[in-house]
Amino acid sequence: MGDRESLSKRVPLRFWGWGYESEELSPDEDRIIESAVRQFVPEGAVEVAPPCISDFQLPPSRLTPPASLEGMISSTPYDRLVHCYGKSYADLVRMYLRQADAAPDGVAFPRTEADIEGIFDYAQQQRLAVIPFGGGTSVCGGVEPDVGESYQGTLSLDMQYFDKVVEIDTTSRRARAQAGILGPDLEAALKPHGLSLRHYPQSFRFSTLGGWVATRAGGHFATLYTHIDDLVEAIRLITPNGLIETRELPGSGAGPSADRLIIGSEGVLGVITEATLRLQRRPKFRATASVKFANMLGGAEAVREISQAGLFPSNCRLLDEAEVVLNRIAARPCSVLVLGFESADHQVDAWMQRALEIVREHGGQVADDAVICNPADQPVRSGEAESWRNAFIRMPYYRNRLTGLGIIADTFETAITWDRFPDFYRAIRQGMAKAIEEITGRTFALSCRLTHVYPDGPAPYFTFYAVGDTTGNLCNALERWRDIKVTANRLVVELGGTITHHHAVGRDHRAGYELQTSPLFRRTLAAAKEAVDPCGILTPGVLVDPINQRMGITGALKEKYRHPK
Ligand SMILES: Cc1cc2nc3c(=O)[nH]c(=O)nc-3n(C[C@H](O)[C@H](O)[C@H](O)COP(=O)(O)OP(=O)(O)OC[C@H]3O[C@@H](n4cnc5c(N)ncnc54)[C@H](O)[C@@H]3O)c2cc1C
Repeated sequence: MGDRESLSKRVPLRFWGWGYESEELSPDEDRIIESAVRQFVPEGAVEVAPPCISDFQLPPSRLTPPASLEGMISSTPYDRLVHCYGKSYADLVRMYLRQADAAPDGVAFPRTEADIEGIFDYAQQQRLAVIPFGGGTSVCGGVEPDVGESYQGTLSLDMQYFDKVVEIDTTSRRARAQAGILGPDLEAALKPHGLSLRHYPQSFRFSTLGGWVATRAGGHFATLYTHIDDLVEAIRLITPNGLIETRELPGSGAGPSADRLIIGSEGVLGVITEATLRLQRRPKFRATASVKFANMLGGAEAVREISQAGLFPSNCRLLDEAEVVLNRIAARPCSVLVLGFESADHQVDAWMQRALEIVREHGGQVADDAVICNPADQPVRSGEAESWRNAFIRMPYYRNRLTGLGIIADTFETAITWDRFPDFYRAIRQGMAKAIEEITGRTFALSCRLTHVYPDGPAPYFTFYAVGDTTGNLCNALERWRDIKVTANRLVVELGGTITHHHAVGRDHRAGYELQTSPLFRRTLAAAKEAVDPCGILTPGVLVDPINQRMGITGALKEKYRHPK
């Protein structure tokens, strides 16, 4: 097969960055990016061109698949490159650097569970590592076949042919769907039945149900059903040692939950082939408002009270002053709360009115025209909410170009209890500002928003932009990013937050995960893996396998993104 050929049936993905190959930035967007870069680098930056497939010298594939797997495994350069990385900043910049040494030897495209079993047999016999691949939108090194020297080869296992909704039960409002289905396809199949999962991660267009379940993704709902965990009723998991199927039940107290063990297992226990989902009726009644506060911590007090009042808004995203300025949401620096309620059953005005009473008591300013109550089945957003949403959707496309211009654009997210939030927020800002200044010596931007909120605490999500390099030396940018990321990981865990609220552990958060979990729990998880995957073929390096104990939280990440020799 030639360079560009593929066994994939999907619209071709851009192998080196976000989006489909055919999607480009508009001239206006290019101008916005250029003007933003000038704020960081007034003298201008050398731009590195995005890579082409022919720029890569991939090592020869080590696979010799048996006849039974013929037509199921591809070793074309395009397929190997698409499955080489996820979509983090480090993934993009390594593509710009034309570094793809750890590209998988091949990509398997199974169509049935029996195919997956055949792939497991082959991998066990040949000592191959197998890494399940949904949409490949991991931002923590989850899909990268970086498995060390002890394997004879690596196989990415792409679930895209598992793309059907198998059964819909409108009475109980449930559906069983295959794991490789993409977000938009799942919603399109549910829509004619008036149903919806209402799980919209920012990566919705490109990520899959199986990926969401495997990573405990966080979605649309800012309160109550924040993670996919809350929307999953049952799972089918094919492991190298057989099938685990959980029962479709609305609730059960029968011992530890197998679903809860599988949800968040990040491909180390088996391949999720199906999940039964708890659905919502499509909302008919909505109320949306945006509220301005003088500053983030003032707004956070109002959000805390809302989250503890039992109102459960579907949207409750608080943006700090820097986030508001960066996304051009308001002319003057302030903190903005985007608040929304929705229901398929009843008007939600009363809930909104009570939430607005709370925000006013905390000094929030509610513009009259920013409150919209709408009974139609159409999303309606206020001006601030709409501006923020547009910036949010387009940002990953902007990052494709920013990376080539030497600008580091990245995020990290966590959760912390309310009592510790104010000090945590200040300390993260101070610590990160100091680190970015020291590492880059240049202007930078750092912002925060609360993506999800709980009665006992918020989930802060930080975004930073920094100068990686202005001369076209993206190795320098990668090293600077790595030093900043190490600081972020360290600060978050040392200050009492979780290493991740919804982006998962993968390889990049592994050391932080070890610091925040009990060694005995990790041994328990390792024993579970041993039971289902005795040869250790699945996703080595994520969650369970021993990492070099001499490497602390700093060392593990530094080692992974070391400067190429
Ligand atoms: C721009 C951008 C925005 C994002 N926004 C969000 C967000 O809002 N919320 C959020 O939670 N995350 C977000 N993410 C992270 C990412 O999209 C999620 O982790 C998502 O759940 C991954 O789904 P995927 O199908 O792409 O999985 P992949 O990236 O393909 O895989 C992720 C992990 O799951 C495993 N896996 C995948 N499929 C299966 C399967 N069928 N069985 C077993 N294991 C499997 C893989 O081995 C890997 O360890 C974002 C990422 C990007 C780049």
